[in-house]
Amino acid sequence: MGGNPALDFVDTIGGPLEDPHEDVHEFLRSYEDLVMFGLKTGTLSERSARRLRRLARERPGDAEAVVADARRKRALVEAAFRPVTEGSRPPAPVLEELRDFAAEASAHGELVAAGDGGFGWSWERSGELEAPLWPIAHAALELMLDGPLDRIKTCGRCRWLFLDTTKNHSRRWCSTEGCGTDVKKERYVARRRARRAGSSSG
Ligand SMILES: [Zn+2]
Repeated sequence: MGGNPALDFVDTIGGPLEDPHEDVHEFLRSYEDLVMFGLKTGTLSERSARRLRRLARERPGDAEAVVADARRKRALVEAAFRPVTEGSRPPAPVLEELRDFAAEASAHGELVAAGDGGFGWSWERSGELEAPLWPIAHAALELMLDGPLDRIKTCGRCRWLFLDTTKNHSRRWCSTEGCGTDVKKERYVARRRARRAGSSSG
């Protein structure tokens, strides 16, 4: 949805910006949710997912702690990128925390040959419950350093962030199926109401 794993991760909480704690908008409730996020965004392989699930069953308390940490890291990534959507910069302490998060990821990662002849990061062999978080840390740092920062936007209707990849930078809603459709529906209803009001008074 967000077009980048770091922004997708921010979008694991939905709803309006002012009311972030309503449980219906929380998509990161369990360790399994974190694994599913990794699979859906392609940041976690099936093999890693199987291993992590087994590990989470063996150490449920630790897995729960990782979920709590994941929510804190999500708030950090959001604190790094939301100011960018408003034309300002994230505060220095947020950038320091982001650096630390990415440094932790690097320390646990491996440099491996990638399909294109180059090299990339891999956490494939990591046997730690935190593993789903590290590709996110790396994606966040890369996005902060390389951008395109001017393409990061917030939905005009909900709290989700996304990368606007349209040619003329015209994307305004997180998705046409979600907020985009809702806005169109609301406009339609408003237009009809206005027409009805107009006809009854005239
Ligand atoms: Zn939206």
